[in-house]
Amino acid sequence: MSGRLLVVGALNVDMVVAASRLPGPGETVVGADLQRHGGGKGGNSAVAAVRSGADVRYVGAVGPDEFGVAALAELRAEGIDVSDVVIKEGSTTGAALIVVDPSGENQIAVAGGANAAVSARDVRAAIERASGWPGCVLVSTEISVMAVVTAVEAATAQGWLCVLNPAPVVPGIQELLKLAPIITPNQGELRDLYRLLGEPGDPPVEMMAAAVASHTRAPVVVTLGADGVLLCGADGVSTRIPAWSARRVVDTTGAGDTFNGVFAASLAAGTDVAGAARRGVAAAALSVELAGARTGMPSAAMINAVLA
Ligand code: ATP
Repeated sequence: MSGRLLVVGALNVDMVVAASRLPGPGETVVGADLQRHGGGKGGNSAVAAVRSGADVRYVGAVGPDEFGVAALAELRAEGIDVSDVVIKEGSTTGAALIVVDPSGENQIAVAGGANAAVSARDVRAAIERASGWPGCVLVSTEISVMAVVTAVEAATAQGWLCVLNPAPVVPGIQELLKLAPIITPNQGELRDLYRLLGEPGDPPVEMMAAAVASHTRAPVVVTLGADGVLLCGADGVSTRIPAWSARRVVDTTGAGDTFNGVFAASLAAGTDVAGAARRGVAAAALSVELAGARTGMPSAAMINAVLA
């Protein structure tokens, strides 16, 4: 059964220069051809979700420029409904300027642009239009805090399942935890959230997850890179789901976005949290086998073949 998923988050154009080394302050390095890819956690996780078989609507904003046209065309070509995207006059489409060295180390500057202009009103209107449509909403935090807060509040009011990817952890999101979203931090974000909640010390990940789950009273799903996922139930009890071993690790950029998109799409289709996390872990392992955040995101058939 395919699920219906509303994705609220940032959409960027990533511009990548592969250089022999990263520049120091005031320095220029020269690479070969410019590579341009779609990016942003909202756009990326929407692509992962639709490829995994979900019906997906993306909610966000772009500027009135050629990057915005290209970014939306890429999402449409994947089969994502972008009719809720707002074109923000006076803003530019979000863009990430990325330099990568031969070891894969990178340096990134992001122009948030229209992502920061996504308003509470935009999000509320999109959720009202989608009333009765989705099973689940996935919200990530590279957009304005008011838009994030509104997305979680309005989705909860509709009775939808809500997944909040707190990447990055921004002040204000701790207020949302009482609405019991399922949260999906990576290890660094879990620590940031733990501290934002005023919890003491720097305990092991299981204890931090349990402390955060006591605030959300909902599952906390911590992504641990090549170590897979820690799933902490609302009762504070943790289990680990090991990563699938990738045949070769080429590029881990977007592994988290792949996990989130497929996890939320699986929940929307009615899968339980542990089953959805297993599907997300399998998809994320496939995604690291190819270069680029979106290139390696797998189809439903590829995920099913790994899990069979
Ligand atoms: P990003 O910001 O690059 O998207 P992230 O920090 O949000 O990443 P990670 O925890 O690094 O997310 O990765 C998400 C998931 O991807 C992990 O939980 C794991 O299942 C999978 N994964 C990451 N790296 C590997 C790897 N080397 N091999 C297999 N699976 C991996």
